[in-house]
Amino acid sequence: MSIFGHGPVPDAVSRPRTLGAMPSHVLVLGGTTEARELADALAARPGTRVTTSLAGRVRRPGPVAGEVRVGGFGGAEGLAAWLREQRVDAVVDATHPFAAAITENAARASTATGVPLVVLRRPAWRPGPGDRWHPVPSTEAAADLLPRLGHRVFLTTGRLGLAPFSHLTAPHFVVRSVEPPDPPTPPHTEVLLARGPFTVPDETELLRHHRIDVLVTKNSGGTATTAKLTAARALALPVVIIDRPPLPPGVTRTEDVGTTLRILDAPQVARGTG
Ligand code: NAP
Repeated sequence: MSIFGHGPVPDAVSRPRTLGAMPSHVLVLGGTTEARELADALAARPGTRVTTSLAGRVRRPGPVAGEVRVGGFGGAEGLAAWLREQRVDAVVDATHPFAAAITENAARASTATGVPLVVLRRPAWRPGPGDRWHPVPSTEAAADLLPRLGHRVFLTTGRLGLAPFSHLTAPHFVVRSVEPPDPPTPPHTEVLLARGPFTVPDETELLRHHRIDVLVTKNSGGTATTAKLTAARALALPVVIIDRPPLPPGVTRTEDVGTTLRILDAPQVARGTG
């Protein structure tokens, strides 16, 4: 099975760029563990320039190999201009699975410039035996469902995802985020500042200690924050799990750094081929 795109891109006007070997300048749209690992691998290759782009949401991001730029590009047009100015040969969108706007912009900028795009997305979590998952399509849908499932909520949707819950006055929320959440937050909110990875024993203790009766999470995938799901299963707690937004049609998707590097090494890196 080809790992390239899932069919032609509607309204694609791009000229697929042919590359002889590893592209010499790769832009990594970052903000994830995978982006950091990819930048490490690319920076170690002689002759490859790697620039990681960060949105600037986290005040103290960890070290990243290669060059780093911070802040938005100014939409798809701004990103396209940046790709041309910086003579970028390939883009890897390794942003978080819920960062839908930058992914859409990357797809549009790739189409406009002909610079190949690979979207690196870790696999989604899947329920196993014993899980009591309630999948929902959005944060708003999670807030609608929540009052029917519990009263003491462990909310791990990130510091920017609290507004849809802010009108819920009855439940007690225990919110965990890397940095303090932005307002508006629900009136009964307790904040735990922490950065993963987390362990199953610690997550179990946290759920017990705070007498949590329902967990809310995005389906982020990956291993750093999966322990809360294992702990919830062991305690038979319901989990409201927010599904990922869909990818733009036709993009080339990979699930790990190794496959991404192999695609970048391929003689042709193009959207919609294969
Ligand atoms: P988003 O909604 O998709 O993007 C909003 C805007 O932020 C984009 O239009 C773009 O501005 C700018 N932006 C986003 N990612 C960027 C990047 N890597 N480099 C430069 N500009 C970027 O994104 P988001 O959900 O706010 O996430 C922002 C960052 O946090 C991403 O890098 C993502 O990987 C990381 N992150 C997100 C989550 C999450 O749950 N959403 C979780 C963990 C980490 P312009 O239009 O001006 O270019």
